Amino acid sequence: MTSPVTEPATIGEFRAAVREWFTHNDLSAGPDHSLDGQVAQLARVRRALYDAGWMRYGWPAEVGGLGGPAALRAVLGEEVASRDLAEPGIYSMIEVLAPTMISYAPPALAAEMVPLLLSGAEQWCQGFSEPGSGSDLASLSTRAEPHGDDWVVNGQKVWTSLAQYSQRCVLLTRTAPGHGGITAFFVDMDTPGITVRPLRTMHGIDEFAEVFFDDVVVPGDRMLGRPGDGWQLAMDLLPHERSTCFWHRVAFLYERLERLVGETATTTATTGAAGADDADLGAAYLALHTIRCRSHATQRRLADGARLGPETSIDKVLLATAEQRLFDTARDLLPGAVELTDPRWRSEYLYSRAATIYGGTAEIQRNIIARRLLDLGKE
Ligand SMILES: Cc1cc2nc3c(=O)[nH]c(=O)nc-3n(C[C@H](O)[C@H](O)[C@H](O)COP(=O)(O)OP(=O)(O)OC[C@H]3O[C@@H](n4cnc5c(N)ncnc54)[C@H](O)[C@@H]3O)c2cc1C
Repeated sequence: MTSPVTEPATIGEFRAAVREWFTHNDLSAGPDHSLDGQVAQLARVRRALYDAGWMRYGWPAEVGGLGGPAALRAVLGEEVASRDLAEPGIYSMIEVLAPTMISYAPPALAAEMVPLLLSGAEQWCQGFSEPGSGSDLASLSTRAEPHGDDWVVNGQKVWTSLAQYSQRCVLLTRTAPGHGGITAFFVDMDTPGITVRPLRTMHGIDEFAEVFFDDVVVPGDRMLGRPGDGWQLAMDLLPHERSTCFWHRVAFLYERLERLVGETATTTATTGAAGADDADLGAAYLALHTIRCRSHATQRRLADGARLGPETSIDKVLLATAEQRLFDTARDLLPGAVELTDPRWRSEYLYSRAATIYGGTAEIQRNIIARRLLDLGKE
């Protein structure tokens, strides 16, 4: 593994150095847009960026990182997303799961495992939702029972993104009643008793899966935190899923907006139709700019040492609103592209519908904003 020749001292220098590196290292994705292709491309990108050192910036030395502020990770993600090098949703898993491992795993386990994720050697998944417990996550019922030094897990998870590609899972289980009875484990997905059944989404990709646990033995030293820490772990993880990874998602959406502007102009030129609907494009841009400003503020708060919390629900609402507006605009301004002629626009349009579901639905985010930020009482 080689480190970058010159240590970048500022965020601006880091960005410039990454850009320079990309001019000599072509990591462009091939024509395979299947999920297999996307996962393979993501691993390739992470491997190359890790070997070059870039993927290690912004992470602590204890887990193989090269240090520096978390904003360096955001900059790297932005450069990756704006070049369309990796699907931004699955790239986000690093930003969601690695901080959790650093905060909750025994230090030796975090030191061993986090580099495997950063380097693309492994894919991990997040086993939170269950058939009866999505929005009401605290009602989850997958049981973990002590058995000597081990724990035995029984139950079912659902909507587990990329479970079929994952070597490990950050798993929430029930070890006692109530919020304080939720315990998290870092589980090897090849443990006997785990069955993964991929589920097809409406955009035609098996992005997530049902995961069944039948007498799955998990060593006690794979517990994340202590018994009963699982709810707090979820409260610490979800703000990352609802904010920090959006900086690079917004970069991806800007790239799509630019593409839309270009294709709208082309359509207009070839059909002789009236000029592009600037108001619609302007509204899409404004929504994107709004979440970008919000995301910038979140990155600043993180850099100042803030612990992210319920205020990230604002980021989530703004992101989902902007993403859906952008793809609605594509549907409106490129007649037939989403419905008939362009599989990529169609796939991304359909996936944008999930933006108000994953990471907690739009209704739940608004409940959090009303209850915990605006103090408006219970929903
Ligand atoms: C693309 C995608 C990827 C995902 N990846 C993962 C993953 O990797 N790991 C994981 O654990 N989960 C994952 N999920 C699951 C996701 O977290 C849940 O779908 C989400 O939390 C909602 O839960 P649910 O589907 O059970 O819906 P429900 O909770 O059953 O909600 C159904 C509807 O009722 C509304 N509702 C529920 N309660 C309230 C309330 N109190 N007030 C107002 N409205 C309410 C909801 O907003 C929603 O519209 C993923 C989902 C998607 C779409």
